[in-house]
Amino acid sequence: MKNYTPIIGLEIHIEQNTETKMFCNCSAHHFAVAPNTNTCPTCLALPGALPFANGIAIENTIKFGLAIGCEIAKFSKFDRKHYVYPDLPKSYQISQYDLPLCGPGTWTIESGQVVGIRRIHLEEDTAKMQHAEIHGNKVSLVDFNRGGVPLIEMVTEPDFHDVESVDLFLKEMQLLVRYLGISTADMEKGSMRLEANISMSEDGVTLPSYKVELKNINSFRFLKKALASEIERQTEALNMGVTLIQETRGFDEKSGKTYSQRIKEDAHDYRYFPDPDLPPLTFTEKDIDTIRQNLPELPHIKRARMVRDYGISLDFARTLITDRSRAEYFERALEAASGTSVTAKVLADSMVNQKLDEKYPEPSGLVKYLYELTQVSYASEAEVDVAVQEVISSELDAVSKFKSGKEEIIGFLVGQVQKRLRGKGEVSKVISSLRKALTS
Ligand code: ZN
Ligand code: MN
Repeated sequence: MKNYTPIIGLEIHIEQNTETKMFCNCSAHHFAVAPNTNTCPTCLALPGALPFANGIAIENTIKFGLAIGCEIAKFSKFDRKHYVYPDLPKSYQISQYDLPLCGPGTWTIESGQVVGIRRIHLEEDTAKMQHAEIHGNKVSLVDFNRGGVPLIEMVTEPDFHDVESVDLFLKEMQLLVRYLGISTADMEKGSMRLEANISMSEDGVTLPSYKVELKNINSFRFLKKALASEIERQTEALNMGVTLIQETRGFDEKSGKTYSQRIKEDAHDYRYFPDPDLPPLTFTEKDIDTIRQNLPELPHIKRARMVRDYGISLDFARTLITDRSRAEYFERALEAASGTSVTAKVLADSMVNQKLDEKYPEPSGLVKYLYELTQVSYASEAEVDVAVQEVISSELDAVSKFKSGKEEIIGFLVGQVQKRLRGKGEVSKVISSLRKALTS
């Protein structure tokens, strides 16, 4: 068996959480909303209706580009991408072709690997198809509430060579857009949608002549499985001398395998051209700087700062930053704890390991609780001795093991004593009392 290196690239769609749609004033909310209620002549593509661009959606896209470290275009425009499908009433999608809002950039994953970002552009979402059965007839229904919601598309270079890095990268992107407040990036709701292309290279550098596109995958877990199954399938095929072809494959959740959906002979010809209804976009250095200055602290920066400034472990910092509101809770609690004996480490531990922040909605409440805990007096010597005697007379098996030389069983006995003392025993005193009682 020859070994091949996976070459993987990603295409990510992120639906924005703006109040209104991309090119009209309709509400952009479409979950748990009666079908086809948030529509107007523009997003239904009625004749004569004109689009106008949503400034917040444009700014959000630039925010994302800046956060990643992409070049931001000074001149950009919208283009029409033509294809016919029931979820696309105009028969073209307003997207961006040769002048995307954000140009190339790079992102460094926590592992240190650098991933090339080819582009980030802005487009409109399509309507949502629903396949149902009405009076025994199979029907396809279209809900135009989603049609025209602002959608960000990011394309990476084929820089991934293992499934783990893909997973790490995607989770970082999800966290990033949540920090920026531009999307819920909820996979189950389709606010974040993933596509990957994968091929196997003999030397790990040369791009193979084919690539397989994996589409319609709705969770990180399934994408990992789909990629792993493709790596196996392609390696086997190549080792058997099979020539692999350009195709689109889906993922079957039951078998855990991919299946062929469509074989592409030619690249699609979408007949892109600039949308004549929308004026081009221009940005000055100052416009871009203003957006840059208003970016929140990004998760990876926050993570590093927490380790550096508070002396908490990288693991704790990593867990705390996975939710921006939780990270803020931690820092407010830290402020409330200043001048007390409650340290950053104790606070972080109480949140990460004991999830006490769920119990105390106010950070000051948690600090008060932790402070009082440090003030608790220990059990007296007499109380410890009584508990030790009780344990020795009830845990006969452990006692005899200890006496036959199994020293480590003392840990178990300490636990039993603490149980009786409701955790108020001072560990060193409990151990010395136990040893005394066991050897006498
Ligand atoms: Zn509309
Ligand atoms: Mn797209």
